Amino acid sequence: MNHDIFKIIPSVNVLLELPEIISLMEEFPRKTVLESIRKKLDEIRKITPSDKIDDLFITNGDKYSFSIQGFISYIAESLKKSIPKTHEHAINATGVILHTCLGRAPLSKNAAESAGKISGGYTTLEIDKESGKRMSRYRHIQSLITTLTGATDSLLVNNNAAAVLLALDTLANGKEVIISRSQQVEIGGSFRMPDVMKKSGSLLVEVGTTNRTNIADYRDAISENTGLILIVHPSNYRIIGFTSFPDIKEIAALGKEYNIPTLYDLGSGAMVDLRRLNVAYEPTVQESVDAGIDIVTYSTDKLLGGPQGGLILGKKQYIDLLKKNPLLRALRVDKMTIEALDATLRLYINDEKAVNEIPILKMMHTSMEEIERRIIRFKDKIVESTGSFFNLNIVDGFSEIGGGSCPAAPIPTRLLLLSSEEISANGISKALRLNSPPIFGRIEKETTRLDFRTVICDHEEDDIANALINIAKNGKQTP
Ligand SMILES: *Cc1c(COP(=O)(O)O)cnc(C)c1O
Repeated sequence: MNHDIFKIIPSVNVLLELPEIISLMEEFPRKTVLESIRKKLDEIRKITPSDKIDDLFITNGDKYSFSIQGFISYIAESLKKSIPKTHEHAINATGVILHTCLGRAPLSKNAAESAGKISGGYTTLEIDKESGKRMSRYRHIQSLITTLTGATDSLLVNNNAAAVLLALDTLANGKEVIISRSQQVEIGGSFRMPDVMKKSGSLLVEVGTTNRTNIADYRDAISENTGLILIVHPSNYRIIGFTSFPDIKEIAALGKEYNIPTLYDLGSGAMVDLRRLNVAYEPTVQESVDAGIDIVTYSTDKLLGGPQGGLILGKKQYIDLLKKNPLLRALRVDKMTIEALDATLRLYINDEKAVNEIPILKMMHTSMEEIERRIIRFKDKIVESTGSFFNLNIVDGFSEIGGGSCPAAPIPTRLLLLSSEEISANGISKALRLNSPPIFGRIEKETTRLDFRTVICDHEEDDIANALINIAKNGKQTP
């Protein structure tokens, strides 16, 4: 190859003056843009006569020219890849309502708006406007929680794992914690109750058997070194058959008798009775407080349907101790979380409003007929635009609550089954995931399955339709 062609490559200085490169410098650090240009130029200059010529050279007979536009696109692409944006809006067509990998509970419209609005300015987070004095950030949701649950005091931390850790560390460090053998829970993502207890410095005292524990087992395990009686809701599994477990009221009474605090890790924490929504029974927060349990903890992004957080409700004497624990400083929540939770909890003042405006609760009681109606409309649109590219079928199936809640309570649904002679189910699913916005479905028996129960709005349905139309357009080119 004639090395004279290198003379037509513009210098770094010339490239840096190009308006397109200047505008890239507004998006990316100047240093990174410069490095990227230098690197590509070095690469081009290293081409030896035996190499394939770089595709930035355009041949015209035996003349070469250099494609500036091509070079700019290359630099823009490589800069985009150097700082990829991996956190983006996604569409959940899996039918798993609380999908931890997809961010658990989507917020209600008013909660998302409130959190967005308040975070753009200063807030009264830790100040009282009447006295001008510093106040606790935990006071904000206090009266709402008291009104809704009957608990006398509350505290909010980053998640339920933090709530349990804080409670154990405060009340049972160096002391014994009595727990039923049937409740040595592991929650997905490495929350193992025995490990958390070890971390908090408390000593595990297991009572009962895997399937049966009675109140006498708890009573017999009490010693002068008992710090806490712990109940853990088996939120992601069920033990069925020959089983028994005392009423939580009995455990609360036992704690009172010996002056030992009782803690109920409720995990998912329903604030309404899910049977109203045609979902299986889950213990509610209010019931646990009414039973006389001293401290109840639960996630705010599971069945409550709010932002990530861990609520701790209970008797003032214990919550006061938790508030004094220096560990709390490491677990404290941000103003956005407080605002989003406040807005979500306000919906529970009227149950009817809660079940219709909190997305995850609304999804639970969307009827099969409604889902079928949406799928048929969608299917017609796809057939109209893509002809016979896809085999489309509507069948019965199940949605799931997910997020380690209600493991034995699948919700009947209607599914859209999707396959094609031209492209495999893996190919379709991958193309959907790589769509903008990414779309997540399920694959079973070599077909892609879309559940519209978790697809939030018409706009998301349009996005899925457009993605499928594109897949059909690209046809066999897609892997
Ligand atoms: C989900 C869950 C946890 C962990 O809650 P996070 O909010 O995810 O930290 C702990 N205990 C139980 C019983 C749970 O269900």
